[in-house]
Amino acid sequence: MLGREGDGLDLLERYYALGLAIVLLHGLTETGECTCGRGLDCQPSQSGKHPLWPGYLDGEPRWADMRRELVRSRRRNLALRLGDQPNGSRLVALDVDGHDSLLNPIVARFGALPPTLTERSGRGAHWVYRLPAEFRYPVNSTIALGVEIKSARGKFTAPTSLHAAGHRRRWTIAVEPAELPRAFAEAIQRPPDRPPTVLHRIDLSGLESSAYGRRALEDECRAVSEAHEGERNATLNRAAFSVFQLVAGREIRTAEAERELLRAALATGMREREARATIESARRGGTRTPRTAPPRALVRRA
Ligand SMILES: [Zn+2]
Repeated sequence: MLGREGDGLDLLERYYALGLAIVLLHGLTETGECTCGRGLDCQPSQSGKHPLWPGYLDGEPRWADMRRELVRSRRRNLALRLGDQPNGSRLVALDVDGHDSLLNPIVARFGALPPTLTERSGRGAHWVYRLPAEFRYPVNSTIALGVEIKSARGKFTAPTSLHAAGHRRRWTIAVEPAELPRAFAEAIQRPPDRPPTVLHRIDLSGLESSAYGRRALEDECRAVSEAHEGERNATLNRAAFSVFQLVAGREIRTAEAERELLRAALATGMREREARATIESARRGGTRTPRTAPPRALVRRA
């Protein structure tokens, strides 16, 4: 279907010919920095893999623009967006963050997963499946230890992109995506009567933050837990920055801020390492500009 080798331009053309939704990403320079040019301000977890253009979730791929950009800079990386494809199929992916044995609990419960289009990088893999027509898209979320389901509004960095660890991503099984087993599709689909996000509720017992601080923390955590996949790191960054301004202003206790932000981030399916890195970087920024509760009258009017 795809062929295993080829440079970025070859694969861009093959993805396009197959009717797959392509997202052009920043790449890595010779010295391993992100081509966005923000240097150390580019989150390490996003370096060389964040979209070049905003709005990629909503528009059709701008094929001519992407091709021109890739000809201009062969260092750009590529991602495939999941969900509805230009060819009419509906794709989801199992993002396995480690050895394939992480899939064992899923296989034990739903039976063997059919071989399908599979991308491997250094330590993990993406198994790409077609979602049968009668099922709703599941929510992007962690479904087993180390296994995330990526669905509509999800994407993954695709071959032949260069990984920060220095290797190129490859299709190790280059066939058409197989159909996701129905029992499994059924088990993970979004329930019809429940909102698509995990609502965040803070346990207020034992907090020593001020009432204003608590409300602000709860609001920020809710924003994080409701963020879509492509926006969750930016949302967490913004929320954590604001929360740590209030920590520095003594409205919120540090331990509570860290615990609740992390809990909200993990509820979205974000990986712990990435979430902790974002929170830590926002903490450094936010605590430099302390903020306190506005005067009471303003709070009431708002
Ligand atoms: Zn960057």
